[in-house]
Amino acid sequence: MPAAVELAQVVKSYDGKTTVIHGIDLDIRAGEFVVFVGPSGCGKSTLLRMIAGLEPISGGEVRIDGQVVNELPPRQRDIAMVFQDYALYPHKTLYDNMAFGLRLRKTPEAEVQGRVMDAARLLKIDHMLERRPAALSGGQRQRVAIGRAIVRQPKVFLFDEPLSNLDAQLRGEMRSEIKRLHQRLGATIIYVTHDQVEAMTLADRIAVLSAGHKMQYDTPEAIYNRPAALFVAGFTGAPPMNLCECVLYEGYADLGGLRVPLPFELARRAGGCSRLTFGVRPENLRLARGGAADIELPAEVALLEPLGAETLVTLRLGQRELVARCPAWFRQAPGSAVTLYVAGDHLHLFDAATGTAI
Ligand code: ADP
Repeated sequence: MPAAVELAQVVKSYDGKTTVIHGIDLDIRAGEFVVFVGPSGCGKSTLLRMIAGLEPISGGEVRIDGQVVNELPPRQRDIAMVFQDYALYPHKTLYDNMAFGLRLRKTPEAEVQGRVMDAARLLKIDHMLERRPAALSGGQRQRVAIGRAIVRQPKVFLFDEPLSNLDAQLRGEMRSEIKRLHQRLGATIIYVTHDQVEAMTLADRIAVLSAGHKMQYDTPEAIYNRPAALFVAGFTGAPPMNLCECVLYEGYADLGGLRVPLPFELARRAGGCSRLTFGVRPENLRLARGGAADIELPAEVALLEPLGAETLVTLRLGQRELVARCPAWFRQAPGSAVTLYVAGDHLHLFDAATGTAI
């Protein structure tokens, strides 16, 4: 049965001084797919390894299925982990690799066979079970590693950057397979990646981490549309959100020569802030009016980057340059004047000193 996982004020320090995880709270529901995302060194793997029991916990509590597991060794936590480098036994066949953990637990051989075959069929590797890992591609090896986790029927699956060693196309394919697998199994999955696209596409909820702190924990939709911090805003979306310094002036965001009228509530909340960062996503800057309340912004085309399905257009607004995602047919030459439209609720402001969203 899938289990809930809770972290309460979890801390990790090395040698009692270097703290790399600073008191993180997280609740992961049974059956939920949660992704830990953040740049290299932010503490994702450390957090995952503490849940697995591979890394001692310096402070706080980890609970699996309501039980505090801080002192439990990994094999008693009923979790299965899938690693980036697969960690398969090179001399065993795929079948034996997948059966190994069950046999270790003295599972009857008939049940071992049933579970291995079910997992192998699910992962489409049932025709190659007599092979050894050396005779497989990277993608196939990762399937075996996932199969080995599935046969254990653990309470929680932990994935540590499982797709990092695969080429871009295979990564995309395996990503959809992992998502399908989650839909089929209804398992609790905690998945670590530095790739925001993996995080957005796979997760029910994303925990964005930076320097050992939880920056935001929410649905992909909320992380994308309502980033709680500058760091989160800059981390999601390709191209990312346009971010530039601005000053507040009588309800306007002054971008240096261009004043953008702000929704009343936003301007009010920003009132006490001396340094601000203005943000708007490239797809929210449009060439046509969307609604009567849209804000109009005069701009000048600076650069066109056709991508086939769409064109990225760099525009000069005041003294700033912002990127807009425009339809492929957009052909206005650099230097042309255009009017952009944006809905007020697509404008973001951040306190430049703290990075907090306003
Ligand atoms: P991520 O998985 O996000 O790339 P890690 O969890 O691997 O990050 O590492 C988090 C931080 O902990 C990093 O700054 C790293 O240098 C530090 N760290 C990892 N292992 C040790 C260790 N044994 N001693 C001291 N610091 C460590």
